Amino acid sequence: MSEEFDIPFKSDLVPNILDPNTEIQFQCSKGISCFNECCRRADIQLTPYDIIRLKDNLGVSGTELLKNHTVPFEMDKDGIPGVKLRTDDEGACLFVTDEGCSVYADRPTACRYYPLGHMAMHEAGATEDETRYFMIKEDHCMGHNEDRKISIDAYRREQGVEQYDQINREWLQLMLKKRSAGPSIGRPSDTSLQFFFMCSYDVDRLRRYVMTDSFRVTYDLEDTFYETVEKEDVALMLFGARLLKQVLFGDKTIPEKEGAYEKRMEEREEILKMRQEAEAEIHRQREAEKMKDAIS
Ligand code: SF4
Ligand code: SF4
Repeated sequence: MSEEFDIPFKSDLVPNILDPNTEIQFQCSKGISCFNECCRRADIQLTPYDIIRLKDNLGVSGTELLKNHTVPFEMDKDGIPGVKLRTDDEGACLFVTDEGCSVYADRPTACRYYPLGHMAMHEAGATEDETRYFMIKEDHCMGHNEDRKISIDAYRREQGVEQYDQINREWLQLMLKKRSAGPSIGRPSDTSLQFFFMCSYDVDRLRRYVMTDSFRVTYDLEDTFYETVEKEDVALMLFGARLLKQVLFGDKTIPEKEGAYEKRMEEREEILKMRQEAEAEIHRQREAEKMKDAIS
């Protein structure tokens, strides 16, 4: 099945929405004349699981991966933070070598999907989200001329993308929820945007946050939970998506300790009151100084 959609600008997107059974004509191989061309002009957005796979492949911390191999960008007009693979000044991915991708076994989701793009959709009345696909046809990519037909489902299996989609599912649902909410929820505060970044991409900082005493007194979680997320990045990442859903969308799946919310609110009010009093005091002092200057 394929359904047409409009593209209001010149683009390499083929304007057809494709479903998992659609057959595409495509094959990429090491011997092809355009080998590595796509990686020399890379624009690769990363998912939370991509970051874990890449940092493990390189044997570096999440913090190091973010610092040395990614660049931040805004995913939408509300400033929702995203990260992309860093490239050199010519736009080439830092992982491309003459032999191909140096992190091939752990290459990101977008590299596996290429030349397909994908997006989650929620049809009115449907109980589950569905994924739809579209084709990207760039002039340099010769894979479209190869004589091989394959269904999108089979291509996803061949490229090992299913595991990535499965682990990123909750986070992708969150993106869809944000998109569907549209302008009604407005631009999140800077604190919310930082929180989104930490829960989505910064596994080291998220782990430090979850291990704090203030976190433990807020959420009602078993000791085994802490033992697991202390060691396992994927478990922590999955929890990060739930935490984001709860904090930003009020989708409560993590039990809170009785009275924790009220206590947090009281503390916030207390801090706000202290801040207002401090600001009022500074204002009073400035006015008194102005008065003194005017008299002398
Ligand atoms: S990560 Fe690998 S496959 Fe993806 S753009 Fe870089 S070199 Fe190419
Ligand atoms: S066929 Fe396309 S995906 Fe494969 S190396 Fe060439 S440009 Fe890249």
